[in-house]
Amino acid sequence: MANLTPFPELSYRHNELFLEEVSLSQLAKLYGTPLYVYSYSALVKAFSEFQNAFKERDTLICYAVKANGNLSLLRELAALGAGFDIVSAGELRRVIEAGGDAKKVVFSGVGKSQEEIKYALEVGIFCFNIESEEELFRINQCAQDLIKKAPISFRVNPDVDPKTHPYISTGLKNSKFGVPFSTAIDLYRKANQLSHVLIQGIDCHIGSQITELSPFIEALERILGLIAQLKELGISISHLDLGGGIGITYKDESTIALNDYANELLKRLHHFPGKLIFEPGRRIVGNSGLLLTKVEYLKESPDHRFAIVDAAMNDLVRPSLYDAWHEVVEVTQPSSIPSRPLDIVGPVCETGDILATNRYLMAQSNDLLAILSTGAYGSSMSSNYNARPKAAEVLVYNKDHYLIGRRESFTELTQRELTDFFNQTSLTKNKLI
Ligand SMILES: *Cc1c(COP(=O)(O)O)cnc(C)c1O
Repeated sequence: MANLTPFPELSYRHNELFLEEVSLSQLAKLYGTPLYVYSYSALVKAFSEFQNAFKERDTLICYAVKANGNLSLLRELAALGAGFDIVSAGELRRVIEAGGDAKKVVFSGVGKSQEEIKYALEVGIFCFNIESEEELFRINQCAQDLIKKAPISFRVNPDVDPKTHPYISTGLKNSKFGVPFSTAIDLYRKANQLSHVLIQGIDCHIGSQITELSPFIEALERILGLIAQLKELGISISHLDLGGGIGITYKDESTIALNDYANELLKRLHHFPGKLIFEPGRRIVGNSGLLLTKVEYLKESPDHRFAIVDAAMNDLVRPSLYDAWHEVVEVTQPSSIPSRPLDIVGPVCETGDILATNRYLMAQSNDLLAILSTGAYGSSMSSNYNARPKAAEVLVYNKDHYLIGRRESFTELTQRELTDFFNQTSLTKNKLI
C-alpha cells in the first residue's frame, strides 16, 4: 500500500485522496491536470518547526527561493518572518514583488553579474555570499561606483562529504561552489583592505538532500576554526550561515530531526555570540506539495508496462536529472495490487522522460495519480520543452483551495518571439532589446 507517512496532510477518505480537507479529484476537475497542489498547513508547519528549533538564538531563516519561487508561497513565508536566499536578480525581484524584505536577503551563487550586484546594492540586501576572489573585487568596485558599502561573507568550502547525490554535493574541495578552505583566511585579509566592502559573516552550503547530521557538524567545526583564526587577525564575524541542505523523506529514508540538528549545532555555538543564518529550501516546501496527473494511455511492450501520463519531465525533471525517487499514489484507492509493475512516463519525446519506474499501481486511462514530495525543485525547475505550457498551481488550506499560478496559455508560450525580423530597422531593434 502507498506510504503516506512523510505527508501527514494526505489521507484517503472513502477511498478518495484528500490533501487537508480537499478532494484531489475535485481539484483536477476544477483546474485540470497536470496540477501542482500545495498544503498551506504543511508549509507553515515546516517553517515554524525550523524557526522554533532555533528560537533561543538570534536566527534568520533565509528560505532558498530556487526550491520554489511561487509568489504566494514567498509572501506567506515572508509573513512568517522568513528571509530569503537568492541566486539571481530574477529571484530578488520575486522576493520584492512578493513583499519580502530585501534587508533579510542573502545573495549566493558563483556567477553574479555586475548588473545583479548593483541591483542588490540598490535595494540594500543583508549580505553577499562571495564565491571567488574575482567576485570580491567586482563587488567592491560596484559598491564604489554606487558610493555604498557592500556587506559581505565568504562561502567557504569546508571539504566535507555530505554523502548525497554527486550532482547535489557542493562542499567538496573541487566543487565549483565556494572558496577553498585553505584560501579563506587570505581572502578575508584582502577584503579587510578594501574600501567598499564590510565583512559581516562566513557561510557554507555543503549540498542538498543530506540525511545525516555528521557532515553538518564537521562543516560547523571547520567554520568555527576559521572564525577563531580571523579573530586573532582582528577580523570579527557577526553572523554564521550554515546554508541549507537538510533532507526530507521521499521513500523510507530516515532523515534529520530538526531538534537534533539544532541541539547538535547550538551546543557547539556557545562561544559564537553572533547571528545564525540557515538557507533551507527542500525542507520547507518539499513535502508540502504534490503533482497531480492523469493517465492518458496504458501501453504494453514485451517486457514492460507503461502508464503514459499528462505530466512529463518538463513539469518534474528530478527523476530524469538525478534519478530521483518520488512516491506515486492512486487518487482513487484501488482494492487490489496488480501482479506486474509499470513505469510512469510522460508524453515528451525523450527516452529519459520518466517520472517513476517499477510501481505496482492499478492505473487505467483517465485515472488520476499523485506524485508526492514535489513541492521543492518541481515547478521551479519546469520548462517549456516540447512546447508544453507550465502546469497550474493551487494552494489548499483546510476546506479551501486557491489558484496561485495559472496554467500557462499557448499565447504566453510564443509572445516573446518575433517573426517579422526582416522588417526590423536598427531603430526598432534598439527598442526591442
Ligand atoms: C540550493 C541552495 C540552498 C537550498 O538547498 P536545500 O537542499 O533545498 O535546502 C541553500 N543555499 C544555497 C547556496 C543553495 O545553492
